[in-house]
Amino acid sequence: MVTMDEIVALCKRRGFIFQSSEIYGGLNSCWDYGPLGVEMKNNIKRLWWKANVQLRDDVVGLDSSILMNPKVWEASGHLSNFADPMADCKVCKKRWRVDQLQEYKCPECGGELTEARMFNLMFKTFMGPVEDESAVVYLRPETAQGIFVNFVNVQQTMRKKLPFGIAQIGKSFRNEITPGNFIFRTREFEQMEIEYFVKPGTDEYWHKHWIEQRINWYYKLGIRKENLRVREHGKDELAHYAKACVDIEYLFPMGWSELEGIANRTDFDLTQHQKYSGENLTYFDDETKQRYIPYVIEPSAGVDRSLLAFLIDAYEYQQIDKDDFRVVLHLHPAIAPVKAAVFPLMKKEELVKKAREIYNELKYKWIVQYDESGSIGKRYRRQDEIGTPFGITVDYQTLEDETVTIRDRDTMEQVRVHIKEIIPYLEERIEVKF
Ligand code: ATP
Repeated sequence: MVTMDEIVALCKRRGFIFQSSEIYGGLNSCWDYGPLGVEMKNNIKRLWWKANVQLRDDVVGLDSSILMNPKVWEASGHLSNFADPMADCKVCKKRWRVDQLQEYKCPECGGELTEARMFNLMFKTFMGPVEDESAVVYLRPETAQGIFVNFVNVQQTMRKKLPFGIAQIGKSFRNEITPGNFIFRTREFEQMEIEYFVKPGTDEYWHKHWIEQRINWYYKLGIRKENLRVREHGKDELAHYAKACVDIEYLFPMGWSELEGIANRTDFDLTQHQKYSGENLTYFDDETKQRYIPYVIEPSAGVDRSLLAFLIDAYEYQQIDKDDFRVVLHLHPAIAPVKAAVFPLMKKEELVKKAREIYNELKYKWIVQYDESGSIGKRYRRQDEIGTPFGITVDYQTLEDETVTIRDRDTMEQVRVHIKEIIPYLEERIEVKF
């Protein structure tokens, strides 16, 4: 299996992910997505949105603000409960999350630990010119609460009937005690969350439905089945309000770890917001003529963690011949940052002209690259390493019969295709049928 160091090195070398503020020595746990990283990230978000909003009649989207009325966090429990127990090593001064330790001593130097203290994970800041207690606001630690407080707005304006969901993608912030493993655990990250509101009593059915939907999404996008598993939370792990929760876990280099959580949160959140806001957040059920607070199923995924899993799953250091190796990312074409690269076989004017024409046309549909430097073999390898699924080469035959070769990244085989057929050929292989 690929190591995290190899992934980090590839990401830096090929412009996927850089350390934040690197020229100043970086900032712990913060990362910047480079030109290829941002394309890949956008693809993941778009594919999530497509499967969960665009293709579903029962889910609509939302983009709520990061800063919210601080009462939201009182109601949600984040101000009083959103904390991890932590302790400091008395010898080397490192700080540890107690619930992640095997034994109660410093995992690094074996030193004695201080008593555990609860540490709130929310970032605080001030709104407006005066920095006093009344101006304190928080950076949201999850996108979910923006959905709950808009439940009535969305339900009424969209005239939605249960069951229906609200989906949101956006940044969240947590002052994690032990960030690490590259982009797996950071203090600023992006989430893709759905709150799916259902009639109480149907919640278990919908919980199962969403577990299936979400796992299939990863499968469809090429994650290998043996690297994904569903783990049910034990009773002792469950948040006090949750009736059930499963994690979709991925086999990362550091072991099985959470990729996404899917929880049955009951009516906890809306009940809390109704209590703290004094607003009526019930739903009127036309069929039974009753008012009640819906239950909610929450599939909550991390954009960065998904991107990391897609990269790890796709990575291969492949031996081609006795002394011939390549790094190849077998990314699903829909996830790959660059969909195709166009090459003139040689830097000859008539080949270059034709290749540029094709490139200029493909640009309208996808992110594509044009490359005329180095041997054709080298150019293919550069694209293999960033996961570009198709290499289109213009050669002398192109000038005679308007055909090009299309090379497949994974099999390295080539087919000859008429120029008019390039777009349908690519389209068929890039498009995902969820
Ligand atoms: P963990 O146990 O790993 O801290 P969590 O159970 O607190 O995660 P949730 O609150 O369920 O995580 O958040 C939903 C999803 O958001 C996670 O499955 C993960 O993909 C993503 N996520 C949460 N915290 C982070 C983080 N610090 N960095 C990157 N992604 C995160």
